[in-house]
Amino acid sequence: MVKVARVHPGSIAEELGILPGTALLSVNGRQLDDFLDWEFLTAEENLEIEATQPDGGHVVYDVERPENEPMGLELEPPTVRRCANRCEFCFVEGLPKGLRRPLYIRDDDYRLSFAYGNFATLSNVKERDIARILEYRLSPLYVSVHATPWEARKKLLNNPRVPNILEQLGTLAAGGIQFHGQMVIVPGLNDGDVLEQSLTDLWNMGDAVLTVALVPVGLTQFSHLYTGKSMDAENAARILDAAERWGERARKERGFTWVTGSDELYLLSGRELPPPSFYGDYSQIENGVGAVTALRERVANGLDRLPRLDGRRIGVVTGTSMMPLMPPLLTQLQQATGGHFELIHAENSLFGPTTTTAGLLVGADIRRVLGARTDLDMALIPAETINENGLFLDDESFAAVREEFSMPVYASYDFIDVLELDGSQLELTAAGSA
Ligand code: SF4
Repeated sequence: MVKVARVHPGSIAEELGILPGTALLSVNGRQLDDFLDWEFLTAEENLEIEATQPDGGHVVYDVERPENEPMGLELEPPTVRRCANRCEFCFVEGLPKGLRRPLYIRDDDYRLSFAYGNFATLSNVKERDIARILEYRLSPLYVSVHATPWEARKKLLNNPRVPNILEQLGTLAAGGIQFHGQMVIVPGLNDGDVLEQSLTDLWNMGDAVLTVALVPVGLTQFSHLYTGKSMDAENAARILDAAERWGERARKERGFTWVTGSDELYLLSGRELPPPSFYGDYSQIENGVGAVTALRERVANGLDRLPRLDGRRIGVVTGTSMMPLMPPLLTQLQQATGGHFELIHAENSLFGPTTTTAGLLVGADIRRVLGARTDLDMALIPAETINENGLFLDDESFAAVREEFSMPVYASYDFIDVLELDGSQLELTAAGSA
């Protein structure tokens, strides 16, 4: 059963008299268990939909749906499948206590992998799920492989019952399903020979494995389960060596890089980040692969759209890891606009100084570094710090925090997105006007 959350005005659903709260039971005799069933079973034109109305009445809708016309309803969010593993490096285990409850949910859901690109380990996938993935052609999936040798994977996921990922991926690949894979690298566990074996196995699956991202283990001061070594510059360089060797082979034989190290590995090892051509369509950018290169590209391509900002003083807040990369970008912005851009470093007070990613800064950090500043005309903070409800990870609301400052503060992905707004949209403070 799936429940209706909203019905769009003028839609087929409204015409049928479907109301929010209606329980949809089956389509053409097939039981509905979740949004995937609804999505795929209603692809037909002739539908017999069995439902229970909010007042308890049982009803069967006969629908002749014109081709490509959506039903026009939204379902209540699915119950997310919980993770059956207990990885030592789990981000959720590295959260401090007292944050909002949803942050502590350890999801591992192949449905969300298909729908939103969330990575899933497939550890909790049963035969019936495999059959659904094949029937509905849920491709591509985003799979946390971590290691293909079974014993190493059991250790990494801290789960002795984890299925054999090679068998799972083999079955899905034979049914035409493709994947983006990720490996979170824990020094001593899945670097070296395990990494080599895993990349060999994934490479041998041919077209089924679209890309592989290598991501260093990320820990906070609260990662209480972790017993392994931390990632240092030397380890990062070794992992990049492997990635670049495989990447070169892939470019020769398949025409694209195939396996890439995340930006963090480059930053940790002190190596220069590759150019845009290395990342193709940036298919693992959400995983921190190519994000810095994409930012550089967006800034370079957006400079000629920027207005003059002569004499304006603009503060740019970032985290520790981006600090060395920012000056050249700010110089470009300065040259293009005439504004003065000041780089402002914020340490992470929630996770501790070892957490250096700008996107994990919290409301308290922004308040700490900008609160006393009365000399700026505007400040930009990383937009990744704020969720779709306008909240930082520490539950502070961006709207409330920005009210406390004497200058306007904007959440920005790439500077250009805010700075290209024309003067009337940019609330530069009168005090700071040239
Ligand atoms: S798979 Fe591991 S890292 Fe992911 S949610 Fe589960 S325990 Fe955490």
